[in-house]
Amino acid sequence: SKSNLQVYRVLMMGAPGVGKTALTRQFMTSEYKGTYAESNTPEIGEPERNVNVQLDGEESVLHFLDEEQHPDFEAEEIPIDAYVVVFSVSDTQSYNQAVKSLKTLREVHGTNKAVILVGNKIDIARGRRVTKHDAMRVAKKYNCRYTETSVALNHHVDELLVGILSQIREQINPP
Ligand code: GDP
Repeated sequence: SKSNLQVYRVLMMGAPGVGKTALTRQFMTSEYKGTYAESNTPEIGEPERNVNVQLDGEESVLHFLDEEQHPDFEAEEIPIDAYVVVFSVSDTQSYNQAVKSLKTLREVHGTNKAVILVGNKIDIARGRRVTKHDAMRVAKKYNCRYTETSVALNHHVDELLVGILSQIREQINPP
């Protein structure tokens, strides 16, 4: 029954304007949405921020929180299962902020949390300021995955959603 679904909390981090809201909205329309996509999970408010995801025949609920709504998430002691650190590949400042966040997350949590670095807005090809190579190198340094997305083109957004759940499960049950 749907009440047995595992709920995981995912914090969307990153500078204003990088696409956190747009990504979260796009997740809600994903083709990986499970059978109970319209269902409400009573223990967590804001059902519009929940998405049911199917992976390996098992469905879980991802509940998305935004760093801008929870700037003090550590102090609030909200249990977070995955951190998605977003920057825009056309905005160096947002990249620098993302790198700082990765550093802080690893200092605070060690490697015990799923952390994913996301370079969004890759459709703005001529405006690219951050290379894939640099972002991959920094992701490797901080022991996290790197994904490039475009919400505008719906590129790799579903893959990112499933990747988040996959990372959370790997963290809980190491392969
Ligand atoms: P947030 O402040 O991080 O939540 O950013 P938003 O989701 O509000 O996005 C900021 C702006 O960037 C909006 O105008 C979005 O439409 C735009 N945006 C988001 N993702 C993309 C993308 O992949 N490509 C382009 N070209 N624009 C995007």
